[in-house]
Amino acid sequence: MADILVLAEQQLGKLAKASLHAIGAAKILAEKTGGTFEIAVAGQGVAGVAAQLAGFGAAGVVALEHDALAQYTAQAYAQAFGNYAKASGARFVVTAATSIGKDCAPRIAARLGAGMAADIISIEGAAGALVYRRPMWAGNVIAHVKVNTPTVVVSVRPTDFPAAEATGTASLVQSQAASVDAGSLRMQYVGLEKVESSRPSLTDASVVVSGGRGLKEPANFALVEKLADTLGGAVGASRAVVDSGWVPNDWQVGQTGKVVAPKLYIAVGISGAIQHLAGMKGSRTIVAINKDADAPIFQVADYGLVADLFGVVPELTDKLAARKG
Ligand SMILES: Cc1cc2nc3c(=O)[nH]c(=O)nc-3n(C[C@H](O)[C@H](O)[C@H](O)COP(=O)(O)OP(=O)(O)OC[C@H]3O[C@@H](n4cnc5c(N)ncnc54)[C@H](O)[C@@H]3O)c2cc1C
Repeated sequence: MADILVLAEQQLGKLAKASLHAIGAAKILAEKTGGTFEIAVAGQGVAGVAAQLAGFGAAGVVALEHDALAQYTAQAYAQAFGNYAKASGARFVVTAATSIGKDCAPRIAARLGAGMAADIISIEGAAGALVYRRPMWAGNVIAHVKVNTPTVVVSVRPTDFPAAEATGTASLVQSQAASVDAGSLRMQYVGLEKVESSRPSLTDASVVVSGGRGLKEPANFALVEKLADTLGGAVGASRAVVDSGWVPNDWQVGQTGKVVAPKLYIAVGISGAIQHLAGMKGSRTIVAINKDADAPIFQVADYGLVADLFGVVPELTDKLAARKG
């Protein structure tokens, strides 16, 4: 029986990429503890998702099936995963710190009477003395957390753990009825308002171009979108422009938005407040365009352009488009 249980996430039968990072974290834990890991996925008709998870070196993969799991609700999923984790005797429960993971993991920890380290960025120390590092106050403080309960729940920040790679082995995949008391559920799924976009998703994109208040007015955000589209990237934004209603909420990058770590992050007319940096400073290469040479964004930028964005962004977009042919 595996002592590490990874809770994989799926929506509408599609495996969340973040779950591969949770498996990556489980592998690190397994190396440190000398243990093995198992993967569970919950839903209705998720045997196909479970089969996709068979090649990552897990001791086993289990699909937990129930009608009440057809769509995500925190209560039903916490029951399914919590009851399975209890029955499996896992000592570590690992999930990605996605919106769903952040919603569900504390409920699972409560059901298991387990201590929890949330949104961790690394696992340090050796078996028996493990320390989980997690950012606090927009990344200004890194807490070192020890959990003393026999069972430990961790949610891992996907951008800080490697995505697991296929090992070529085939884990045993099984399906079983999830333990959910449907009569006890007081949450009901009402509907999903899905945002359709031809652009890559903000958290998966290898290029992100974000705009801020320096763009002056909503119509000028088209400059950021055009640059992003030329690079095949996603569009992000500072909270200032989201709060002003210029762009949708789900474009926000930062402490209270999305955490991204693309290969290339371009910040256009963004000052670089700590709350914004908390969501993008892990990006591999950061380019900042700002007319104020003292803007804090330049402290984290690999390449800084002190210039008026209304001149340089269209010029850069045209040059990149010409290069693409
Ligand atoms: C609890 C809390 C949580 C928060 N969470 C977030 C979060 O998740 N994400 C986030 O982004 N913020 C967040 N904030 C807000 C944050 O503190 C800043 O207010 C916000 O990031 C500022 O957005 P901005 O950089 O677009 O605007 P500003 O700070 O106004 O910066 C605009 C920049 O544009 C430059 N500029 C102006 N004109 C031009 C031009 N023509 N050419 C080039 N540059 C130009 C200026 O020099 C300036 O640096 C949070 C705040 C709090 C208190």
